[in-house]
Amino acid sequence: MHTKQTQNINDGYIKFHCEHTNTTWNSDLLPLSETRKNLIEKLDTFRTKIFDQQFIGMYENGIGYGNLSHRIEENFLITASATGGARELGIDGYTLVNNVFIEKNTVQCIGPLPASSETMTHAAIYLSAPKVQCILHIHNQIIFDTMITLNCLSTAKEIPYGTIEMALALKNIAKNNPLEACIVMQGHNEGVIIYGTSINHVESQLTFLCNEIKKIHCENCKKGEHNG
Ligand SMILES: [Zn+2]
Repeated sequence: MHTKQTQNINDGYIKFHCEHTNTTWNSDLLPLSETRKNLIEKLDTFRTKIFDQQFIGMYENGIGYGNLSHRIEENFLITASATGGARELGIDGYTLVNNVFIEKNTVQCIGPLPASSETMTHAAIYLSAPKVQCILHIHNQIIFDTMITLNCLSTAKEIPYGTIEMALALKNIAKNNPLEACIVMQGHNEGVIIYGTSINHVESQLTFLCNEIKKIHCENCKKGEHNG
């Protein structure tokens, strides 16, 4: 049995419309092929690594942050809403997004849980950059602050996460950067998006970003600007 649910996820200023068909994996509506199963397992292993670095997780107030998606067939898989706190999600933590209407701020998805509230952002990138396969959204204050200082690729301060404006801004960035990018979302504190043509490609960009930022902060240490 499955039920169709519609809900508005509201974080204070956004209304993201999610049409969720609630069903388990490996059911008639959501068959679990070997390909799907293998991809979800690979994604979840990667997500656990990211979780262990605290780039995905849960704030003290219980609000989860960070999410991960991957293209599959004509659609994409994304971590479900409110899953940030779990170290391992397993198959039930992933939802299949099967339709996106950016202008209507509406997403249709199917799975045991509704899709992440940042699904629209991921969808915009996939729509505009056909070669992109994997998108990771992380939260980290040091990376966020440093990327702003360095004038990295960014979305404007006025654009809050989860909005149509954010989706359109990322659509533009992805058009001009069709294979890879690290983007700081200035209007979404701590928010950074990294995408690429594979899970490994995303991972290597994150590693590179972390190393560059470490170098910068170590130079500050050497100058005695801060201790430790
Ligand atoms: Zn976020």
